[in-house]
This record gives sequence, C-alpha cells and structure tokens, in this order.
Amino acid sequence: MYGKFKEHLQQEVASIKEAGLYKDERIITSPQGAEITISTGEKVLNFCANNYLGLSNNPKLIGAAKDALDQRGYGMSSVRFICGTQDIHRELERKIADFFGTEDSILYAACFDANGGIFEPLFNGDDAIISDALNHASIIDGVRLCKAQRFRYANGDMGDLENKLQEAQKARFRVIVTDGVFSMDGNVAPVDEIVRLAEQYDALVMVDESHSAGVVGETGRGVTELFHIRGKVDMITGTLGKAFGGAIGGYTTGRKEIIEMLRQRSRPYLFSNSLPPAVVGAGIRMFEMMDETNELQEKLHHNTAYFMDNMKKLGFDLKPTQSAICAVMLYDAKLSQDFARLLLDEGIYVIGFYYPVVPRGQARIRVQLSAAHKTEHIDKAVAAFEKVGRKLGVIG
Ligand SMILES: *Cc1c(COP(=O)(O)O)cnc(C)c1O
Repeated sequence: MYGKFKEHLQQEVASIKEAGLYKDERIITSPQGAEITISTGEKVLNFCANNYLGLSNNPKLIGAAKDALDQRGYGMSSVRFICGTQDIHRELERKIADFFGTEDSILYAACFDANGGIFEPLFNGDDAIISDALNHASIIDGVRLCKAQRFRYANGDMGDLENKLQEAQKARFRVIVTDGVFSMDGNVAPVDEIVRLAEQYDALVMVDESHSAGVVGETGRGVTELFHIRGKVDMITGTLGKAFGGAIGGYTTGRKEIIEMLRQRSRPYLFSNSLPPAVVGAGIRMFEMMDETNELQEKLHHNTAYFMDNMKKLGFDLKPTQSAICAVMLYDAKLSQDFARLLLDEGIYVIGFYYPVVPRGQARIRVQLSAAHKTEHIDKAVAAFEKVGRKLGVIG
C-alpha cells in the first residue's frame, strides 16, 4: 500500500518545488536574538523574528522559568480540568486580563488553539461570523469548525463590512472577527470603526492581537489602547509566542461569561495538555515587567520609525505601517528572492514574500523590527538595503 502513497507524496513535493514554494528551514545554533548564529557558523542580524520586544532570550524571563521549573516541576501530565491547573496558571490568566483591561482569560497551548476553539462552543447555524479576508489561517480553521453562516469582507473595508452586517441581520447573533495587525502589510485593523459598526448593527467583536499585543498602543496594550476602546472588544485572542517572550502559549481574554463557557466547551482547552510551569512562570514575570516600564515599547517604536525614515530617504517604496512590520515593496517575485539572498550575504537575515503568501505582483521583503535592535544594527541593515537596492536597480 505505501508504495503508491509514497509516489503520490513524491509527486506532490516535486510540484511544490517546481512552483518554487518548497520551504527550507534555516538552522540557527544560537538563542533567538538581534544577532544570531546560523549553521554555517556565520553571525547575521535577524530582522525576521516576531521577537518584537527582544524578550526571547531575556535573562529575567529565563530566571523566572528556572524558578518555576524548580518550584512547580517540568510538566503537568493533565488537561486543566482534571489535575492540570496550578495556582500560577490562574495567576497568569488574571495578569493577561489586567493587561488588556478585560474581565477574565483562558490559556491554550497556542493561539492557533485559542482561535480553533473559540467559535464552535459559542455559535451555531443560527449565527453569523463576519471575517476580514486577510485573517490568519487559525481563524479560518476555527470558523470552519463552527456551523455558523460565514461572511467575508475585504481587508479593512468598512463599507464592505457594513454590507455584510446588513446581510447578516436575520442571524441570531453576529460576530465580527479581525486580526489586530495584518502580518504582511503591518496595517492595523480599524477596530474603532468596527466597534462603532458593531454597536449600530448589534454584533460582537473579536480581535486577534497576536502581532499587536506588546507592540501597538503607547504602552503596548494593543489595538484597544491605540483606539481608546479598552473593554469594548468582547473577545481578544493572542499568543505568548511573539512579543511576549516567544516561547509558546495562547489565550483568549474578554467578557467573563464568554471565558466561562470556553472553559466548559472549548475542545482544544478540554482535550489538550496544560501549559508547562516554566512557560507560565516566565509569562507572569513578563507581564510584571510590562507593568514596571514601557522602555521596550518605546525602543521598538523608535526603532521602527528610524528604519522607516532612513529607508524612505533612500527612495524605497514602503507600505505605511502602524506596527513593527515594514513591507519593502519590490513587486516582482524573483527580485524579492534575489534581494533577500544578497542581503544575507551582507549579514542581514530577512525573508522575501511573494504569491500566494501575498497577492500576485505584490512581492516584498518583510522587515520586522525589535526592541533588541541597536541603532548600529539598523544602520547596518539600511546600508545593506542601499547597496543591494542600487545593485539590483531598485533605487537610483
Ligand atoms: C502567530 C499567529 C497565530 C498563532 O499563534 P501561535 O501561538 O504561534 O499558535 C494566530 N493568529 C495570528 C494573527 C498570528 O499572527
């Protein structure tokens, strides 16, 4: 039997390679950081991690993880409702709620699970889910697991959203779902207008803050801080795997009745293991740090503005950003790959994205800034962009 299946897989993989879509993994031999060592022994500057606050290798978080490991052990060997809830799990859930100004939170193994487990327990075929066209894959999968009617509006298009809300007026409940920051352009969803439309058309609002939490808003509290609408979004999902230390873990935070129902019925929560104590202990310490100082957010905002300004001065075509994601537009797929390869030769690690990850003819290099970047790192990146940009005729 396996013979035929093996052939089938080999053909599929060959066609992925032919289409130029085969993903090779670059091997890193150092901790995650602004400077990393790759398996060839070279040191490169990393501009493609979601390590927005530079916490992935933070000594305080490593210390907190070690303390939790010593005091609460390695693993829980249980789901939360059997014997997998320690005092620190509840403490982290409260810290997340305090951070976002919400009522309660529930932890998951990842945000992929938070999104996978949020719709099915709350909505059924009488309801409508109205989703931004560029929402993350985990939201798309979560919506698929739910019987609710599906509506899709063009990215950030409030006219289109309003049309879909009108179409969905007969549904029992309506929920508008959006990423806070969209990962390819770095644009922020207009959540202030979304909340206004939700009030007008009697809908709930859910925002996935994976790329916005810790980043967006003056103190990094995410889109509800940016738009001065704290407490007005019914459900927020997010990850501990990006700005918040980069290890693993996801959460849903919001209205307490919603969280209570998820604890009863959300399948990835009920049927998957509890987060390990080390991750939970470091998570608690991380949220304490967020309360102590805004230094990292300020550094990140400064670094992003500094990079954007210098790149614009050189004549690069950049998407406007409201996050730490900067899209350097090249439009041509092959050019984006050549550009990224030459940047790596200059010691700058970035990724070129092209169709189908972004629309056809919209190829780009995505640069992700971090609070861990020093000015000299950014200067080196900009100089490399200038050198490669001139060589490939992208800038004059
Ligand atoms: C990264 C990301 C996720 C997945 O988060 P994990 O915790 O890694 O599973 C979900 N939603 C969005 C918008 C993301 O960017």
